[in-house]
Formats: sequence, C-alpha cells, structure tokens
Amino acid sequence: MNAKVHILLIEDEKSSCSYITALLGKTGYHITTAATGREGLSLAASLCPDLILLDLMLPDLNGLAVLRQLRSWSHIPVVIVSVCDEEQEKVEALDLGADDYVTKPFYPNELKARIRTALRHSHHHTPGQIYEALNLRIDLDKRTTYLNGQQIHLTQIEYQLLSLLAENAGRVLTYNTILRRIWGPYAEENNQILRVNMANIRRKIEKNPACPQYLFTEVGVGYRMRENENG
Ligand code: CA
Repeated sequence: MNAKVHILLIEDEKSSCSYITALLGKTGYHITTAATGREGLSLAASLCPDLILLDLMLPDLNGLAVLRQLRSWSHIPVVIVSVCDEEQEKVEALDLGADDYVTKPFYPNELKARIRTALRHSHHHTPGQIYEALNLRIDLDKRTTYLNGQQIHLTQIEYQLLSLLAENAGRVLTYNTILRRIWGPYAEENNQILRVNMANIRRKIEKNPACPQYLFTEVGVGYRMRENENG
C-alpha cells in the first residue's frame, strides 16, 4: 500500500523535465523520465508505470503516435502535457484514449489534480454511486438529482448527460465522446444538440449559467464536471 506511485514522464525539454520531476518528487511520486517517444514506449513496456505524462512534441515520434502505439496494448492512464494550445491536438489525443491534458505553462496544483483524477479513475473503475459537490447531489442508483436538498426535474437526455459527466467528474470529455455515448455510434458530429441540452442543464443547476460552478466548458474540446467530493 505504501509503494510509491510510479510516473513515467516522456518529455524532451530538459527544463520542463526537471521542473516536473522536482514538483512531483516533492508530492511523493516516483518519476522516471524518457527523452524520446521510442524510449518512452520501451520504458512503458518494461516498467509498467502507474501513469504516463506525455509531451506531444518529441524529437522522434509525435506524441499522438506514441499514444496510438501505447493504446494498442495498454490502458495505463495517460495525461498529455503540451505547449500546443491547439484544440485539435487535444481533441485527437483524448479521442485516442488519453485520460486528460494540461497545457504548459500550468499551475502546479493543476497538474497534481489531473494526475490524482486520472489515477483514481484507473484504480477503482466502479464510479461512486453518489456524486456530491457544493449544493448538488446526484444519486446515480436512483437516478435522482438534488440541488440545495430539492429534487430537480431533468429530461431523460439531460439526466444521461449529467450522469455521464458526473461519473467522469474531474476529467474532460470531448464533444465526440459525449455525442457517441449518449446518441450512439452514428451520432451526427453536430454539437448543436449537445450545446442546447447543456444550456438547459446549466439553467437548472447553476446559479449563474454564464459562470458555472459544476459544468465547465473546455473551449473547442468538450466539458468537464467539477470533482466529486464524495470520496
Ligand atoms: Ca517537447
């Protein structure tokens, strides 16, 4: 139980490497680093780390190619660490099976939170049956939602959306992932229906829908729900 969580950092940039290694070392993680995509893949196979932090711009392989290869044999949680603020790359990485991403420069707490969330989702894969944060409580067994202790009425689709995000609380889900999970594999790649439903949910649960406390928009990427405070 006391074995340190082992993180493999695949990153070529020396300053970023030493910064992250120092930061996570202080937090109590054991870090191994790889400076190229190929070295990263081989260390991932030989060391079986608990989590991988993956830079997208590597000298040999593109980070997305590393991720694609990795996902052909492994479910190790992967958090992308990237300078590219390019939404398309984030979306692609998430759709390829990355668990989350942080964009450099990031706040130390942001990286640590993303790591914790990714580890939690990989360790006990059964999501909690109760989502609870601030004044919102969702009973995922009974399919009921309460705000300030009052039950609120959601349509079928609204509840499906909210519970999907609650089960993945703390992680970003891309528009495509959400559309496919709710409307099926042949869902049109049309975010409009999603946006309308999200706006309706926000009107019901957010005090100020323009400044949400529960459902955050990751611009151009998808949605992230506030962390579950219930364990
Ligand atoms: Ca790099």
